[in-house]
Amino acid sequence: MPRYHIWTVGCQMNEADSAKLAAGLQRLGWEETPRPEEADLVVLNTCVVRQKAEQRGISKLGALRHLKERSNGRRPKIAVMGCMVGLRTDGLLKRFPFVDVFARPQAFSDVLTAVMPQEATGGEFWPESFPQTPGPTAYVPVIHGCNKFCTFCIVPYRRGRERSRPIAEVAHEVEVLVARGVKEVTLLGQTVEAYGHDLPHRPSLADLFRAIHDIEGLERIRFLTSYPKDMTDDIIRTVAELPKVCEYFNIPIQSGDDTILARMRRGYTLSEYRDVVDKIRRWLPAAAISTDVIVGFCGETDEQFRRTHDLLAELRFDKVHVAAYSPRPGTIAWRTLADDVPQQVKMERLHIIEEIQEGIAAEINTRLQDTLQEVLVEGEKGDKLNGRTRSDKIVHFHGQARPGDLVSVRIEKTSAWSFQGQQVALAYPT
Ligand code: SF4
Repeated sequence: MPRYHIWTVGCQMNEADSAKLAAGLQRLGWEETPRPEEADLVVLNTCVVRQKAEQRGISKLGALRHLKERSNGRRPKIAVMGCMVGLRTDGLLKRFPFVDVFARPQAFSDVLTAVMPQEATGGEFWPESFPQTPGPTAYVPVIHGCNKFCTFCIVPYRRGRERSRPIAEVAHEVEVLVARGVKEVTLLGQTVEAYGHDLPHRPSLADLFRAIHDIEGLERIRFLTSYPKDMTDDIIRTVAELPKVCEYFNIPIQSGDDTILARMRRGYTLSEYRDVVDKIRRWLPAAAISTDVIVGFCGETDEQFRRTHDLLAELRFDKVHVAAYSPRPGTIAWRTLADDVPQQVKMERLHIIEEIQEGIAAEINTRLQDTLQEVLVEGEKGDKLNGRTRSDKIVHFHGQARPGDLVSVRIEKTSAWSFQGQQVALAYPT
């Protein structure tokens, strides 16, 4: 039986793509191996959104080169997919001549044709619609690409323009996943609230929530990533109304300064962003909100950075993903703006944000001490089970349950990152 190994870095969209590719390969008789040196096909699913992620992909490729050059043992085919692969691949081919195929995000068929003759697939081309191999949770991409062109971002160039999947197709995939034991789906998009604007009759994300909400056996619905300008009142209200939709929002702010936001071409002002957060907190008081921040963007002064810091202190997010700006070749900022904040200053700012956020998250989480939380069990480690609350907090706890069970856990200890607790019941009391 031929074996494959997939290495993935980057966002949930990449994880979903890798899971789909794995499901497709398994359906065609391939077996997964955790060891690339034992594989007939090694796929690197790459990310270039940040320099660090790109560097990891390049180092991994360097490490794989010797597999192709060794004189004995398997010499696997090597495929690189994901955001490292742009429209033109001649530069990559020159740099990494030992790679057999470069495939753009979601170009599964390019990977497959490199390793098997087309007739071996039975002409069954190809697994855009293969459901992933499931655990209790699964990612379901619902809108691909992005139309926003923020000046720092490579995504629209690599993943193309927004393309929504029809509601019926998404609903079918969710039904198949649930039939295989999935309890929670996360609907994915780079800007997930843009869902549907390109489809006939322009359904919204709220319509999609309603269409899958009553699938029997499905317990939770999540959605990622939010774009403040696309977040409508209807979407927030629908999250509040539908019990299976979890009250968790990831809404990147990126900067706390209007001039920087305009330079990033984010398309909203701080006051518009505050309005969205304010509505969510009024209509869903238990909601958790996380955000993304970039420090050291082109021309960011100490004063402008301080505004970001102060905004985080004011809005008190549950989680902040912070990154130091690195220019991405091909983007508007790379072409037109100077990357003029010294690296050392960027790192200082990054650590300041991490520090303030750790304090805020610890304080927010302390409020959940001694409460009962509904947890979806995802796995176990040592003598403890683990899972997540509806608000996406990680819980490690003692109890007796299996992955996929919804349990009620008393929270006994909290930190900025996770909770410890004790299971008190198998099903959460409704
Ligand atoms: S909204 Fe902006 S940051 Fe997000 S994927 Fe689109 S271009 Fe990139």
